[in-house]
Amino acid sequence: MRFSNAALLALPAACLCSLVTAIPSPHEQSAQQQPFSTSSLPGRSQWRRLSGRLIGSVWGVPTAQQQQQQQQQKGRGGGDGLDVPRHAPPHTLARYSGDVVLRFNISTNAEAKSLAEAADTLLLDVWEFSHDWVDIRLSKDIVGPLLGLLPPSLQTSHTPLLDERELAQAIYNTYPPPRGSQPPQSPLNPHNNPSPLHDRPFSPSLRQSNAPENNVFFSDYQPLSVIEPWLRLLSSLFATHVRTVHIGVSSQGRSILGLRVGVHPTNDNDAHAPTRKTVLVIGGQHAREWISTSTANYIAYNLITSYGKDRHITKLLENFDFVFIPTLNPDGYVYTWETDRLWRKNRQPTTLRFCPGIDLDRAYGFHWDGDATTAGNPCSESFAGEEPFEATEAQRLAAWAQNETEANNVDFVAFLDLHSYSQQILYPYSYSCVATPPGLENLEELAIGLAKAIRIAHGHEYEVMPACEGNVASAANHDGRRPLWPRLEASGGSALDYFYHELRVRYAYQIKLRDRGMFGFLLPKENIVPAGKEILYAVLYLGSFLSEVYVDQAVEVEAGKEEVASPPVEQIDASGSAVAEGAGEADEDGEWVWVEEEMGAEDKVRWELRRRKR
Ligand SMILES: [Zn+2]
Repeated sequence: MRFSNAALLALPAACLCSLVTAIPSPHEQSAQQQPFSTSSLPGRSQWRRLSGRLIGSVWGVPTAQQQQQQQQQKGRGGGDGLDVPRHAPPHTLARYSGDVVLRFNISTNAEAKSLAEAADTLLLDVWEFSHDWVDIRLSKDIVGPLLGLLPPSLQTSHTPLLDERELAQAIYNTYPPPRGSQPPQSPLNPHNNPSPLHDRPFSPSLRQSNAPENNVFFSDYQPLSVIEPWLRLLSSLFATHVRTVHIGVSSQGRSILGLRVGVHPTNDNDAHAPTRKTVLVIGGQHAREWISTSTANYIAYNLITSYGKDRHITKLLENFDFVFIPTLNPDGYVYTWETDRLWRKNRQPTTLRFCPGIDLDRAYGFHWDGDATTAGNPCSESFAGEEPFEATEAQRLAAWAQNETEANNVDFVAFLDLHSYSQQILYPYSYSCVATPPGLENLEELAIGLAKAIRIAHGHEYEVMPACEGNVASAANHDGRRPLWPRLEASGGSALDYFYHELRVRYAYQIKLRDRGMFGFLLPKENIVPAGKEILYAVLYLGSFLSEVYVDQAVEVEAGKEEVASPPVEQIDASGSAVAEGAGEADEDGEWVWVEEEMGAEDKVRWELRRRKR
């Protein structure tokens, strides 16, 4: 089987040109410019005097000072000394020029309670949180007054992650440079060495390999206008085992597109074929988490191009289908490219015209709690809608999945919901730490295996925990048990819980990808390949785990022959220059390969990642 890489590579480049002329739709502009009313704000008076100053930073309504800077920027036609040009939306500098990202280290219940109250009442943009820290983006101007209202201990236990200049620069850096220009050197990223990809004029050659690290598609984040034709192209080039899947239409009328990857050796022309075991991988529920979209694309590309070349992946795709939906929230994703890099929700109108958007990952029907939490405010970053499944894209995904199981012979056996950031593997439940999911041991066991596979790739640690703990501030105490502190974010209505409980997906995880806060959502593009690769390892591990669970005689033993499989690892491990943080952490005494292992009396064989001595 031979494929034309030239054709595969040519289309994204052509599409990239269209990005230059992309402009926000008039509809979105008008929504953005509506005057703001504070009538809907919660009435906790101690915070209220700050709220007006927060409006600009939370909802992107420029303050007078920012508007002035905006005018100055227009006049200069430049970026105030930032590394430009980039395909960044207009006014990016003005929008975020006064913002910073702070990490608050939490060590007491009072600190957690106070921060949770501030986040709720002021509708702060909480970026991420873990057991003992919370990252919050806010206007530099309100840092002082906010600290004055927090417990004294928090006034000294916070550190800046991104100062105002770094934030704006990091935003610019995530957009690709215009075609033909050299990528600017970022002072923020020591790993930002120009790749040979950028030095090479864009002339696809048949000599280029399929390896994703050599594919220009993965050298930058890609806009939807490139991703969609790329997905369609893959399905037409690899028609034997790839099909496009139409999940539904977004609230603004965009197609939610996916790929179904897998072969059906037994299902052809067989009305009574067994159900098709299927792994569902989604990215981009939250618009600004671009690495989740690129990672879904990376894994899809690897599985697709390894079929017929790597026997384990070939076998995997014979036994299982994989459905990839890289941009579940296409409207939000487009909005991050054209208007606001840090937009999180979808772009659906709400009852408050100036606060559009519903948080997709709070909108599903299982233990939806939007009415009982501050997510009931449309201006909140976690707004869950007025009722379950009000968010169009969440409703479309659930309806599609339901129909697949009821009418299309599909059995979803695993679900991976990709997010960023903080490097965590989260398993059900999200809505409650008290409820215990059935099959908890299996969930934990596989999660630990996924984390191990990820660590093998570049040595990066991903923490394993129930999703509910990822949603509260908590800390380990002396006996090792974590007390649960006040919630920083509503956690009902998640996709994770819905697929696990309502669709009975046995292995359901939310994976928060790189990094741990250095860049947060603004992860430099040099991470696209290494982040993709470490999650690919996890997916291959998942595949071997599922094969053991669901497929009898997963690999036929060739009698008397102990074979080392031709490893996908070698195929995908040839990167090198594109690898950023974590790169070069190669094992000292060997390399990791896929190895078949005989399981004794039952003649069963398992295959797993193992170290092979050099
Ligand atoms: Zn997310």
